[in-house]
Amino acid sequence: MAIDPREPYDPDNIFAKILRGEIPCNKVYEDDHALAFHDIAPQAPVHVLVIPKGEYVSWDDFSARAPEGEIAGFIRAVGHVARELDLVDPGYRLLANIGAHGGQEVPHLHVHLFGGKPLGRMIS
Ligand code: 5GP
Repeated sequence: MAIDPREPYDPDNIFAKILRGEIPCNKVYEDDHALAFHDIAPQAPVHVLVIPKGEYVSWDDFSARAPEGEIAGFIRAVGHVARELDLVDPGYRLLANIGAHGGQEVPHLHVHLFGGKPLGRMIS
């Protein structure tokens, strides 16, 4: 079920548990601001989720509340993961589902990184 990003942060959401090491993940990258791991149900040959370590439900929440260093760190981490996975050339796709209309299911901000094959155009 899609979540409402106006709800307070739920510390028991699945990505919070992954961040605390309570459930495992297939980790790709980690630094002070971000954790990246393979999606459990990949929709492309490469499907990685990048999440900030702070407690942010959505992009709206993150961009409004996070300190500059966390925002910069998260964006840099996404770029780092794409380079580490050799996706920069031929390219990849970033996607963030936000809120009910965006179809967000896990109420901890995350960016999907897809790659490994031609992905087609989503917008024409
Ligand atoms: P959303 O629809 O919220 O943007 O995407 C949530 C994503 O989290 C989905 O692609 C789903 O497959 C992934 N996911 C849900 N639970 C887990 C889990 O326990 N581990 C991992 N690695 N991914 C998960």
